[in-house]
Amino acid sequence: MMERFELNDTDKRLIEIALDVLKRNFDDGVYNHTVGCALLCADGSIFSGVNCDGIHGSCAEYVTIGMAISAGQREFDTIVAAHDKHLNFVIPPCGNCRQMLYEYCPDVKVIVNDENGKLIKVKARDLLPFAWQSVVC
Ligand SMILES: [Zn+2]
Repeated sequence: MMERFELNDTDKRLIEIALDVLKRNFDDGVYNHTVGCALLCADGSIFSGVNCDGIHGSCAEYVTIGMAISAGQREFDTIVAAHDKHLNFVIPPCGNCRQMLYEYCPDVKVIVNDENGKLIKVKARDLLPFAWQSVVC
């Protein structure tokens, strides 16, 4: 059974931060940076980043998790990806990001739109049932 969490004021702020980092880095005409992401770490610090397009480009979630890890963070609370033309400004993570989130932080809460278009949070593990896992011998 998938747990669903209500958004709080910090979550709404995360969406604003994700939109802000995109606005500051959007490259009109080239479209290499089209998604913003904000990540709340367990210690309360917040990281934000944009995607980097290219033949093997990285989604904004990858960039932002990488920034946080590079800064020494290992525990994550909530993540959101945003774009100003999506419903409620929120984009669900792609399959590749779902796998990455599952491996790095399966209990991180991800802000998504539910089936009725309402913003909710769900755990990354619930976005990828029967996820691939490395073999433990
Ligand atoms: Zn992705």
